[in-house]
Amino acid sequence: MCYLLDVTGLRDKVVLVTGANGGIGRCLAAEFARAGAVVVIASRNEAKLQALADRLKSDGGRVLPSRCDVTEREQLAALGAIIGERAGTVQILINNAGIAPASAFLEMSDSIWNEVLRVNLTGTYNCCKTFLPGMIDSGWGRIINIASTAAKVAYSRVSAYTASKHGVLGLTRSLALETARLQVTVNAICPGYVDTELTRENARRMAQRTGKSIDEILKLFAESSPQKRLIAPEEVAGLALMLASEKAGGITGQAINVDGGAVMV
Ligand code: NAD
Repeated sequence: MCYLLDVTGLRDKVVLVTGANGGIGRCLAAEFARAGAVVVIASRNEAKLQALADRLKSDGGRVLPSRCDVTEREQLAALGAIIGERAGTVQILINNAGIAPASAFLEMSDSIWNEVLRVNLTGTYNCCKTFLPGMIDSGWGRIINIASTAAKVAYSRVSAYTASKHGVLGLTRSLALETARLQVTVNAICPGYVDTELTRENARRMAQRTGKSIDEILKLFAESSPQKRLIAPEEVAGLALMLASEKAGGITGQAINVDGGAVMV
């Protein structure tokens, strides 16, 4: 029997994780570094990025931290140039940066609507525009969009978020068709409530509005899943590793839920 150490085929591949300072982003970066990939971590807070890079490097990871706002095309072009010089071609792009401010529709300001669409949907579009050509030229690529179950079903008080994530799913599917013969796959991961700061922030806001405690709200979130629990960031990262792996080349245009069975479409 032959045991291969690099079972995923990810060793030495260059992966870009956006929003890497967040709960899911940090975990994605750690799991891909552990798999032997060169991990470019991008987010807006430079100090936090450096701290994450130091931690991953001390665990033996190969990491390149670079400050970048996904809504700024010029910053993405500059990031592409830095990665090209220092690491090579981005062959795995994980569009993870996202925001989810909750608000009832009529109370929501135009600026919330615009910002959510700008970060979640246009940010994903910007990154695909910037990094897809390199994948096509190199003859291999994986785009993984961290969407949400809100890409498939609706939740109240998050209309901008729901619209943005439905948009991400539409982009995923359309791009999967356009790249199907180019050795590039494009998929979405749709988590339910994940145990991160984003979920805690929404629990805080809901607690303020309803008079319940944050723990009570988190319990409500957990109980909305048949498994009665929040999802761990590692579970999202595990699916991303699988979708990025060599053997997942036939999976494209899919949107896979990681939500304990809450949504079955
Ligand atoms: P988080 O708030 O912990 O992290 C999000 C990260 O994105 C932060 O580091 C933030 O600074 C960064 N970011 C925001 N705007 C950015 C911009 N313009 N440019 C670059 N970076 C930016 O959230 P998380 O829970 O880790 O979420 C990560 C992704 O997973 C998001 O797309 C979110 O919508 C999605 N998601 C989260 C959950 C959940 O329950 N936490 C569920 C479903 C989907």
